[in-house]
Amino acid sequence: MSNNRTESKAQAEANKAARKHGRQRFRVSVIAARIAQKNSIGGPRNRCYCCGRRLADDDRLLLDRESYIRGIDPECWQLVLKRVSQIEAGEVVL
Ligand SMILES: [Zn+2]
Repeated sequence: MSNNRTESKAQAEANKAARKHGRQRFRVSVIAARIAQKNSIGGPRNRCYCCGRRLADDDRLLLDRESYIRGIDPECWQLVLKRVSQIEAGEVVL
């Protein structure tokens, strides 16, 4: 078992990635539920609500204005829209 340390480090990184991915998915479903219920999604934000990616610094936008106003970057927004359509189709129960 010479590379135990390497394996456990890789495992730790995999776990961390899984947690991050899980958090993003959870937050995508939170936002989708708010949209489906016609509630505010709480933007604008300097960072994406779902994944934490920067949308703006103090003095400039890093992505498009729409993403900043939503507080959600385009990648996560696609996931949100997909989720909303699943909710509206009755495929996902809130
Ligand atoms: Zn995001």
